Amino acid sequence: MSLATSNPLLQPWDTPFGLPPFDAVRAEHFEPAFELALAAHLAEIDAIGSDPRPADFDNTVAALDRSGRELTRIESLFHNLTSSETSPALQAVQLRLAPRLAAHSSAVYMHRALFERLDALHAQRDTLALTPEQRRLIERFHTDFLRAGAKLGVEPQKRYAQIMERLAELTTRFGQNVLADESAYQLVLRGPADHAGLPDFVQAAARQAAVERGLTEGGVITLSRSHIVPFLTFSERRDLREQAWRAWVGRGEGAGDSAGEHDNRPVAREILTLRNEQARLHGYASFADYALADTMAGRQSAVKALLEQVWEPAKARADQEREALRALALSRGESAPIEAWDWRFYAEKVRQVRYDLDEAEVKPYFALDRMVEAAFDCAQRLFGLRFVARPDVRAYHPDVKVYEVRAVDDALVGVFLHDNFARASKRSGAWMSSLRDQSRSADGEGVIPIVLNNNNFAKGAPGEPTLLSFDDANTLFHEFGHGLHGLLSNVNYERLSGTSVLRDFVELPSQLFEHWLSEAQVLKQHARHWLTDAPIPDAMVRKLLDARLFNQGYETVRYTASALVDMAAHALTAAQAPDVVEFEREELARLGAPADIGMNHRMTHFQHLFSGSSYAAGYYVYLWAEVLEADGYEAFVEAGDPFDAAVAARLRRFIYGAGNSLEPGEAYRSFRGRGPIVEPMLKQRGLVEPQGAGG
Ligand SMILES: [Zn+2]
Repeated sequence: MSLATSNPLLQPWDTPFGLPPFDAVRAEHFEPAFELALAAHLAEIDAIGSDPRPADFDNTVAALDRSGRELTRIESLFHNLTSSETSPALQAVQLRLAPRLAAHSSAVYMHRALFERLDALHAQRDTLALTPEQRRLIERFHTDFLRAGAKLGVEPQKRYAQIMERLAELTTRFGQNVLADESAYQLVLRGPADHAGLPDFVQAAARQAAVERGLTEGGVITLSRSHIVPFLTFSERRDLREQAWRAWVGRGEGAGDSAGEHDNRPVAREILTLRNEQARLHGYASFADYALADTMAGRQSAVKALLEQVWEPAKARADQEREALRALALSRGESAPIEAWDWRFYAEKVRQVRYDLDEAEVKPYFALDRMVEAAFDCAQRLFGLRFVARPDVRAYHPDVKVYEVRAVDDALVGVFLHDNFARASKRSGAWMSSLRDQSRSADGEGVIPIVLNNNNFAKGAPGEPTLLSFDDANTLFHEFGHGLHGLLSNVNYERLSGTSVLRDFVELPSQLFEHWLSEAQVLKQHARHWLTDAPIPDAMVRKLLDARLFNQGYETVRYTASALVDMAAHALTAAQAPDVVEFEREELARLGAPADIGMNHRMTHFQHLFSGSSYAAGYYVYLWAEVLEADGYEAFVEAGDPFDAAVAARLRRFIYGAGNSLEPGEAYRSFRGRGPIVEPMLKQRGLVEPQGAGG
């Protein structure tokens, strides 16, 4: 048999919705398929560049947008599998392919003949009688090419391509190292003493993890967030908390790894060094300057101003929180200073006293299936979408649920894959991705998006539901908001589709969607006790909402410290980057960061920065988007209805549906009727005193 007939990746995907033939694909199919798809894409690019006709929008810009679909199809599948269901075989392929794919990208963006045509059209864009979306597409592609080195000279281009190849290799290695540390670690809980303080749901998750690891008794705490955070919150065993905490924050640091095999310190250092060289080839002093040039923020000073606006107030709030934790500890006769592995434990105790809120009592109302229904219901009430389960359609793992998404008129809008559980073959965190992006072909026929959401929830025991914390449910809604950004995309060109927006805009649809989970009417309808089906009591809803500001000093310090260290590391201008662990220590000391609070992500496992480049010098984007999101949700508050039809229609048209077809500031103003203000974000984080309180 020829390659094309024996390799399922290269055959037509004759499957429901054109999903990948998951069952038939093996790791060894990827490299030969990529070789053919890369060559085919380059041939398309050559053909556009050498087209004898004068360059016009369709034969150059639209043609570029239509090119490489075969490659994208294979690449999307590959990235999704290596993130969600990887294997040693796939990881080996991934390491070999990373520089190869980067080299291909450079070959496209440095294609002289193609760029000359694009550059000429860009210069004439005012006279080409383009639609606003077509004009945006030219500008976007032109920027993409410039930022990938299209205008550099021959020698700098060679070096630039080398840098990109090496960076691709290093960022792949970085992510694999984190995963290796995460899947290698387990804290085994043996007798009752090891389980002291753990509520039933934590014990059940630990038991389930033990079963999955082949242990006949006891429990296992893994470094998955949905294991480790509850363990640190509830375990009475200070020694075990410390042990688990050290393993968690030490990921990627090479501890317990005598061969240094998974040590990310040299990896991150080389990444920073190469990024600095990349930026200098573009004429920027630092990578932060280069990265920020193509964002809403635009420059370091704008980012720093925003981060500094929250940093000191957050520390002050955290100081008050610490006092409350100390008082609580003393009331238990415990006088040791609060350490990083104690904070969550005492915070939960304070929360129970102050708000009479016990997480173990809350969770039975937050069964995963119910919360998925809640998210779907909100999407229906806002945008008329219906999610129809397709249990007959298989994905890459039995736990993945497949839905077809239908509009009010029953038209197929997209396909949604929901992959909610943690497993050793999946990277940590939560994210949205796609297997196909929305667009329209030249004759106007719609390309239906295939969107995925990944979470890492600890699976409930067999026969029992998976119970979420309120935070987990927020994460579910967050990723679902990204998912809607992909599903509701309504543009013509793939480059402008869905989440392909500026990165400090991309967290707006996701963070905004979290608000609906906190609407009392949504909770009353969907948060039902999994055993009794009783709706969540009003008093508990009130307590949950009252407690939202609790511990926000701690959370804001952790986030902001991470964002400030990210920005500082990428703002360095020296040719050689420092050791990242030492740099982090010095920077935290300089900032006066409290040691008992720490960071959301330390440098050696900061995957946003080092498992790829899209969030490098970009961890601030969550706060940037929060300004937009907090102010944006006020539009519904002002309308007096969280599902107000007119506000929802504007939200769909200008935010969820517009992709990158509009300049983001303009998109926001069109939705809101004015530019954003920062006060709602500060209020949402409890960082300003309510106006007029106390007269
Ligand atoms: Zn997000």
